[in-house]
Amino acid sequence: MTNKLVYFVGNWKMFGDLKSIKVIKSVDKFYKKFSKGNKKNKLVFCVPYTLINFFTRSLKSRHISIGGQNCHHDSNYGPFTGSVNASMLKNSGAKYVILGHSEKRAEGDTNQIIKKKIKSALEKKLKVIFCIGETSRDNKNKKTFLVLKKQIRDSIDKKFDIKKIIIAYEPIWSIGTGKVPKIDELQKTFKFIKKYLKIHYKPKSVPSILYGGSVNEKNISMFSKIYDINGFLIGGSSQSSKKFIDIIRNYYK
Ligand code: PEP
Repeated sequence: MTNKLVYFVGNWKMFGDLKSIKVIKSVDKFYKKFSKGNKKNKLVFCVPYTLINFFTRSLKSRHISIGGQNCHHDSNYGPFTGSVNASMLKNSGAKYVILGHSEKRAEGDTNQIIKKKIKSALEKKLKVIFCIGETSRDNKNKKTFLVLKKQIRDSIDKKFDIKKIIIAYEPIWSIGTGKVPKIDELQKTFKFIKKYLKIHYKPKSVPSILYGGSVNEKNISMFSKIYDINGFLIGGSSQSSKKFIDIIRNYYK
């Protein structure tokens, strides 16, 4: 195992209250010791808006950052009931934001809206975790690469600072289902995404690309064999400190 930087990002979705800080504190306690073994990781918990400020104030961690799970595309205040913009997220202490998650796309986020959200988040100096992924139908019809290419091209403007964007490849059919892609399929998909980013954006260094979809403490060792994967976006299993810790531990076994 090389000493490459690996992200472990939790997406809590609609989960958690003030007491749930104990999940993150347990992970922090574990990781303080674990990282002495020279591990290079970034740990992030993307939590509901209601918890961001409290968590960032209560958690004095060198290792863990807090993020949000969405933001409105308008960076000013405005008549958008129920919405929070990038500036409000930043002021509440968030360092990261997940954008383009398939659960938000299902509620109406298009590639064009996501592009505006990315722009606004980058302007407010948030790091963006930009989700892409195909449906099971696209996958069966061998349209995966076409879909991913369009999602990337239509949402990441060539003028964006691509260094501040992390891509999360999350096949929609894998989220919350227990189904995961085969190793060789994943290898090909990650190679494709990296190559496309290189050719289309010509970045100085290629952005990190995470895998997300039913990652757990049992299947993580399979993913650790794929060198091109730079980390994981973890939904359900990030709500338990034990599972999250076992995922990190087992990745390095
Ligand atoms: C997610 O919602 O981003 C996700 C990957 O969920 P799960 O790990 O539960 O499949």
